[in-house]
Amino acid sequence: MQVPAQFDYERATGVAHAIALLTRYGPESRLVAGGHSLIPMMKLRIANPETLIDINDLDELKGISIASADGADALRIGAMVRHTELLESPLAVEHFPILVDAERVIADPVVRNRGTIGGSLCQADPSEDLSAAFTALHAVAVIEGADGRREVSAREFHTGPYQTVVGDAEILVEVRVPIRPGSGSAYEKVERRVGDWAVAAGGAALWLDADTITEVGIGLTAVGAEHFCAAQAEDYLRGGPVTEERFVEAGRIAAEHVRPTADQRGPEDYKRHLAGELTTRALRRAAARAQHGTEA
Ligand SMILES: Cc1cc2nc3c(=O)[nH]c(=O)nc-3n(C[C@H](O)[C@H](O)[C@H](O)COP(=O)(O)OP(=O)(O)OC[C@H]3O[C@@H](n4cnc5c(N)ncnc54)[C@H](O)[C@@H]3O)c2cc1C
Repeated sequence: MQVPAQFDYERATGVAHAIALLTRYGPESRLVAGGHSLIPMMKLRIANPETLIDINDLDELKGISIASADGADALRIGAMVRHTELLESPLAVEHFPILVDAERVIADPVVRNRGTIGGSLCQADPSEDLSAAFTALHAVAVIEGADGRREVSAREFHTGPYQTVVGDAEILVEVRVPIRPGSGSAYEKVERRVGDWAVAAGGAALWLDADTITEVGIGLTAVGAEHFCAAQAEDYLRGGPVTEERFVEAGRIAAEHVRPTADQRGPEDYKRHLAGELTTRALRRAAARAQHGTEA
């Protein structure tokens, strides 16, 4: 089946308007952003929304900037930012190169030119790349509904495959990543061919004080990591020194705790092996960037 079922179409003029439309049309309505996940699902009749609410005109959801609050800075990424914009963002390169690493290996230019950060996170595909990157960065998702805004940690954003905490009449507005000194981050992915979804992928972010790891984040995708997170490996690393041996051990711990499933992209033991190896590689590169700059 390649033709969607009949649906009504509304074009929102602002966030409040989009929320009002979601409220009016109820749970059978869906937001459409880039449409690269939703429209194929509609064509296959996996998704059959009665009303599509288009949020492509919402300037409030666009742009990448530095936001300051209570003396702390954060990188603010609007939900309607396209993958290409994040890939080419000088602010992302400067502060969180993990995002640029990840964007470089997401799909192809056609998808990246239309697909959005918000659509990717809300689609909540268990092989999605940015969820792992934002988990590693300890990012925060900002969600708006009729009662105002609320903030949810990236680690609590997904409640299961294709499920998130965003309610029926809510919108993901932006993602915020706190900017703190001494950081380095990197993303490593194995794919069957260029532009494919991950066989496995992992991202790491480190915050260093000299050679001591003061904070760490490790995100894994496509390997059944709970909340895209390698929490036990993070606990092992936090507070200790930067050493190759400890990065290898963190990879071993991460591999021990993932729950991959065999599919056309590979058997379980191969994905488990990749989870460990990619964790170690991402940590190694994140540390080099924290110590020697983004070019490392
Ligand atoms: C061929 C192909 C290859 C791909 N490869 C990869 C890959 O390797 N790695 C990867 O990570 N991704 C990959 N993707 C996914 C891609 O990143 C899409 O952009 C993404 O899935 C959805 O973004 P979208 O803006 O198109 O969302 P849409 O399809 O418009 O929406 C997806 C879902 O999110 C909801 N939604 C959208 N925006 C919001 C919002 N602001 N608030 C609340 N709900 C919202 C919609 O209602 C819908 O349910 C691939 C996609 C394709 C088509």
